[in-house]
Amino acid sequence: MDIKNLAFSYDRNQPFINLKHLEIPDGKVTTIIGPNGSGKSTLLSLIAGLLKPNSGDIYLGNQKVADLSAKELAKKLAVVHQQNEAPSHYTVRQLVNVGRYPHRKGLAGMTEADEVAIDTAIQQTALGKQEACNINELSGGQRQRAWLALSLAQDTEYLLLDEPTTYLDLHHQLEILGSVATLNKMHNKTIIMVLHDLNQAMQYSDEVIVMHHGEVVAQGVPEKIMTAELIDEVFHLPVQFIVDQHGQNHMLTLKK
Ligand code: ADP
Ligand code: MG
Repeated sequence: MDIKNLAFSYDRNQPFINLKHLEIPDGKVTTIIGPNGSGKSTLLSLIAGLLKPNSGDIYLGNQKVADLSAKELAKKLAVVHQQNEAPSHYTVRQLVNVGRYPHRKGLAGMTEADEVAIDTAIQQTALGKQEACNINELSGGQRQRAWLALSLAQDTEYLLLDEPTTYLDLHHQLEILGSVATLNKMHNKTIIMVLHDLNQAMQYSDEVIVMHHGEVVAQGVPEKIMTAELIDEVFHLPVQFIVDQHGQNHMLTLKK
């Protein structure tokens, strides 16, 4: 994915997002980090075509996001937002079925391919036992997985996730991140996600993008760019890195 000269403002007088050139590698897991209000969710919404830039272009391969219809875009790119509202009477299976809408032709009903995609998405998110449950009967972790299942049923090349772990306990956080890693490795999906846990960003990402005040201040492999200096500068957090017996890097926050 290629982003060129992208500018966006919520308020005409105050330019906010400003990206000269950003390339997000295909087939990799890229995590956007940055303090609250740095523009992470705004950038995801721009990529997903939900916000229109003032200027600039976002390319998926050689196609511009702005040139694709909503349906064409939904076949290429799926988004799981931070908070998702489902009709509460929907069952898991009904919700996941929504992911197939972009693939339907006119008023045609479900095809064999739709059924297979729904079954696969439910299986990949381990919701088989819950597929007939109402969304509002699920735990927070299961609900997040149901939304992930919807976006998997969409069968897209790109998957965008905005803080997919925020409302989950640690066990379910790792479960979601594990599913995301598997989707990337087994199905070669390009994952672009926002995480606020810097350790998780370090562990689950091929590349990280650091945002600050609507701009990208660093991009690259986590070990290279997530330095104590950068974390202190951007997050105002004094930190130290330790390496465990498996050679894995961990960040510790220090007392001020
Ligand atoms: P992040 O996801 O990094 O926390 P956001 O992209 O949500 O940041 O928001 C970035 C800035 O844009 C914030 O200052 C926020 O107040 C502002 N903002 C977000 N959404 C809107 C909106 N719909 N209208 C006006 N300002 C907004
Ligand atoms: Mg956000």
